[in-house]
Amino acid sequence: MLRRSLGSIVSLASRKYSGKSFSSNMAQIINGNEIAKEIRGQLKQELKDLVDSGNPVPHLTAVIVGEDPASEKYVQNKMNACLEVGISSETKRLPASTTQEELLQLIAELNKDQRVTGVLVQLPVPEHINERTICNAVDVDKDVDGFNELNIGRLALDMDGIVPATPLGVKRLLEHQNIETHGRNAVVVGRSKNVSLPMAILLHADGKYATKALDATVTICHRYTPPKELARHCRQADIIVVAVGKPGLITKDMVKPGACVIDVGINRIKDEKTGKFKLVGDVDFEEVRQVAGHITPVPGGVGPMTVAMLLHNTLKTAKKQFCDRQAS
Ligand code: NAP
Repeated sequence: MLRRSLGSIVSLASRKYSGKSFSSNMAQIINGNEIAKEIRGQLKQELKDLVDSGNPVPHLTAVIVGEDPASEKYVQNKMNACLEVGISSETKRLPASTTQEELLQLIAELNKDQRVTGVLVQLPVPEHINERTICNAVDVDKDVDGFNELNIGRLALDMDGIVPATPLGVKRLLEHQNIETHGRNAVVVGRSKNVSLPMAILLHADGKYATKALDATVTICHRYTPPKELARHCRQADIIVVAVGKPGLITKDMVKPGACVIDVGINRIKDEKTGKFKLVGDVDFEEVRQVAGHITPVPGGVGPMTVAMLLHNTLKTAKKQFCDRQAS
């Protein structure tokens, strides 16, 4: 309760003194860009300390298979962020015709390469390649995405490991905004294995273990949750995290006044007024901000936090490897 109360005071104070006009019942917009920038600054210092104490510069290798423009853009953002904090990085681009065996061979080489401390294979991979086989092939200690079954298993068992960047980014946003989660009702909309499942685990698991999870009561909704039930569950939630990929899925009537709404969705749609393409989330932002207490925008909410948490994971994996090497 205290965390929420302090958060509300800070939120009201910052709105009051921002000099901008605001309506008191409008949600506070969570600025993921600003929070991520702050985190990148901290990581830059952490990296400097690591290297100053005699360790090599961590190195992240990203692999893209095929020519998906969205994947190219996401990987470019990640590489730019690496450059900003001082992590060495490179992107390996393979044609869409690459076989699963060829991709597994490359991953095996990267796993063996001592210079490479982090490996990520940008998803989705072409349909003829099995995504799970690829995620499991990345060495668990270099798995900066946290998609290897061992890392997901560790998360499920409250053990320390690498947590997928998007849910970890959402957790950091909630903590940064002092959103109370302990004993609160949370709804996760979506049940994907890489985003929503780890999100639900982080929200519901016990805060006293290594994952320092959030102690909420969690409901997971998915494709087969009837729309009326989805609305009913959402209306009871103090925190809604939506990761589906359907613009306008979460509307004003589905949100309890004062709830915190985190929009993970990214959808490219045509703006009817300008005719240009733009990015939107899964939440009807303009409507929902009239009832919510906090809300993330798209773009500028969860996206930059995902990148910041990928850097966090890259530093964490590198530190563990340097430590293990010293011990052996
Ligand atoms: P995904 O694997 O396609 O999963 C989408 C999930 O939504 C599935 O579990 C699906 O259910 C569920 N779903 C579909 N229709 C639904 C409905 N009407 N009501 C409730 N649930 C429904 O996608 P993802 O990888 O989790 O990503 C979700 C969204 O987040 C996408 O827009 C993606 O671009 C975005 N994303 C953003 C970031 C970021 O950094 N901001 C990172 C990752 C992903 P079934 O399981 O039954 O199919």
